[in-house]
Amino acid sequence: MKLHLVSLGCAKNLIDSEVMLGSLVNAGWVITDDPAKADIIIVNTCSFIEPAVNESIDTILELAKFKKNGVCQHLIVTGCLPERFREKIVRALPEVDIFLGTGALDRIVHAVEDPLNFSKCLLPDPNLLAMQTKDTHRVRSSSHIAYIKIAEGCSRHCTYCIIPKLRGKYRSRNHADIVAEARSMVLLGIKELILVAQDTTSYGKDLNMSVGLSGLFESITEISENVWVRLLYGHPDSIDESVIKTIAKHDNICTYFDIPIQHVSGTVLKRMGRKYTRDDLYRLFEKIREIAPGCALRTTAIVGFPGETDKDFKELFDFVEDICFDHLGVFIYSDSEDLPSHRLAHHVPKNTAKKRHDRLMSLQADISVKNNQKYIGRVLQVLVEKKSEDNMFIGRTYFQAPEVDGITYINSSQLKPGKFAGIKITDAFEYDLVGKTV
Ligand code: SF4
Repeated sequence: MKLHLVSLGCAKNLIDSEVMLGSLVNAGWVITDDPAKADIIIVNTCSFIEPAVNESIDTILELAKFKKNGVCQHLIVTGCLPERFREKIVRALPEVDIFLGTGALDRIVHAVEDPLNFSKCLLPDPNLLAMQTKDTHRVRSSSHIAYIKIAEGCSRHCTYCIIPKLRGKYRSRNHADIVAEARSMVLLGIKELILVAQDTTSYGKDLNMSVGLSGLFESITEISENVWVRLLYGHPDSIDESVIKTIAKHDNICTYFDIPIQHVSGTVLKRMGRKYTRDDLYRLFEKIREIAPGCALRTTAIVGFPGETDKDFKELFDFVEDICFDHLGVFIYSDSEDLPSHRLAHHVPKNTAKKRHDRLMSLQADISVKNNQKYIGRVLQVLVEKKSEDNMFIGRTYFQAPEVDGITYINSSQLKPGKFAGIKITDAFEYDLVGKTV
């Protein structure tokens, strides 16, 4: 029997998909890339913001067609969409046979093997979902990159964010399990280990670990020589100096700091429920650049948050102009009735929010091209990812994370995907670089 799985959303969701596929393959199922050939189709969904909800629903409806035009007998929807919208989405999508919430991902084999006797919608408490162990089998979606989940859930309560409701409280994974998983990935030839969670820099604090994230880094670097280790999804008020120093100390840890700020205006941060100030952020990024010169800074910002004034936006604009981030993602506030921020006064008109989004993106485009031009003439270590066309390969440097940042185009005829190469940068654009082998 064959199954096809589509994974939507973030890297953490991708890991859940890989773990579900691992247990299904262990149960004897065969994975097919062709939904038309699949007896069972699974969509692991995202519902973080409105565009993600729309993408999930469109994907489900698209794949539901294979129940008519293909061999598909059952369509199963898992993850954040059913977890967020519960019975409402069950009524809205009669095409779907089974819904599994984020707390029921470990029931996927039962659901697939006995769909007729399985309940239509299973939404147990996500806090009760067992964490991955070192023996959890995953079907990896990449031959040379592996995301490693170091914690689940979030115990913060940013007023615009639904994640704590979808994923439960913050729970750090067992240190030894993470290191064992990293070791098994390195033995499988992985060249980049990417540590992820909703808030990676809080790792170990819920377990009163003495060394937490810096200790985890030390253990992973011991087993991953010649393998990049990257950290994503940090948090401004939980990143310790010890973590910054550990990242700066080890050659194989990418000096790449992904720290979403969301905003800098005191009033907006307060309404967002984020407990730091603009000056805290100035001090943090200054300290990071002092301890790790040449590091890359990535952040995200939300514009159009309820109550955001022109003055608030100017503060954010000036801050971005000052810091000159290497990478900036700008989101327009996505309202929804199930968010605390929905009840805040003074919602910002969509066109105003769009104008602010475009102004910040255009500022960042100028900053980004200037930042990239400083690499012209330098030889950088690049992880070659794939051949794009004759004499052209695509890769990434330590300051280019997968999926979210730019890439490096490499003029060459004889490179190996999944290997590192020394690349001389010959040109630079807003987001991407061009280079050649040396
Ligand atoms: S820290 Fe991140 S995941 Fe947690 S509530 Fe805030 S935005 Fe959501």
